[in-house]
Amino acid sequence: MDIFINTTQSKYKIYLDCIALKNLNEFIASKKEYKNIIVITDSNVDHFIGNSFNLKNYKLYKYVIEAGEKSKNIETYYKIIRYLTSIKVDRHDLIIALGGGVVGDLAGFVASTYMRGVDYIQIPTSLLAMVDSSIGSKTAINTEDGKNLIGSFYNPRAVFIDFAYLKTLPQKEFLNGLSETIKASIIKDRKLFELIIESDLNNEEIIKKIVKRSIEIKKEIVERDLKETKERQLLNFGHTIGHALEKLSDYTLPHGYGVAIGMAMITRGYYRMGKTDEKTYKRVEEILRKNHLPTHGSYSTEDLYSEILKDKKSNGNKINIIYPKLIGDCRIDTVDKSNLLKLLKHCL
Ligand code: NAD
Ligand code: ZN
Repeated sequence: MDIFINTTQSKYKIYLDCIALKNLNEFIASKKEYKNIIVITDSNVDHFIGNSFNLKNYKLYKYVIEAGEKSKNIETYYKIIRYLTSIKVDRHDLIIALGGGVVGDLAGFVASTYMRGVDYIQIPTSLLAMVDSSIGSKTAINTEDGKNLIGSFYNPRAVFIDFAYLKTLPQKEFLNGLSETIKASIIKDRKLFELIIESDLNNEEIIKKIVKRSIEIKKEIVERDLKETKERQLLNFGHTIGHALEKLSDYTLPHGYGVAIGMAMITRGYYRMGKTDEKTYKRVEEILRKNHLPTHGSYSTEDLYSEILKDKKSNGNKINIIYPKLIGDCRIDTVDKSNLLKLLKHCL
């Protein structure tokens, strides 16, 4: 049931439905080279590391950040780097990212830059991190000017997905992650879309199926295009608007909620422009509404427009917008920036 990610850079395994701490112990025991183990985690999930983490022969350190997107910044990054220096971490040590996407992105970026790179392992605890942020090698921090403006592509040595962590995940955070699985289904897999829209999502086995399929979709895309030159751009469906909304809300709007609004707005806009059919548009609205995800933002098109122009993903005078032609079939539309404001008005 495990999944291998095999990119031109390296190969690593995603252990699906495992007991993360048990796997971690085994992994560390099998690698004699590590001296210190540093767990980077956040204030909501640091207790998961608890007493069951039993490591002989290793020194275990824990660095706890304040939970939330606001910690994904250069100040926290620098504090962690100073901490690693103070405990004399070197290239023979191992960093563990235990938490949601914020911890994963931040700890991954620390691991990729500290002493030009230290091994790290991802243990995602939120649904979003399991299906999306822990897969695909992107690490990042935000700056005042935008999301993920500083970052790197850096592979973890392994990813351990332990569904037991989802038991304590608040409903809002569950929906936050569900939004990314909905995105994966609209991009590539009509069957997954039907499974999400038709099923009882309180059923654990269904959730496991959804997580597994979402990871497979991301794996297939990143293996073909790690650096986002072509196909990986599809994963940005809903994200251009989503990131702008997150930023405008001063990061009080969770990532997946921003993406949900972004997906709904783009589908609405492309339907109105005659590029998406009515059935597809209605199904996208339906799956989001049914799962209590938002479909409308609360900022003006002008605000959105100026925020989007700051996005690192725009290239020169053009910006690539991802839209669904059909469920399971998304396309890339290259839009001239001079037409973007008009396009956004169609999306309202
Ligand atoms: P998050 O890390 O802030 O987690 C959301 C909240 O859930 C936090 O309060 C966290 O403490 C809490 N939480 C996590 N696991 C829990 C658990 N098991 N029980 C109880 N509470 C738990 O945010 P997120 O939604 O996981 O991730 C969002 C971030 O991921 C954003 O910064 C986004 O940019 C990034 N992201 C990165 C990629 C990538 O490819 N690297 C992809 C998608 C998203
Ligand atoms: Zn995302």
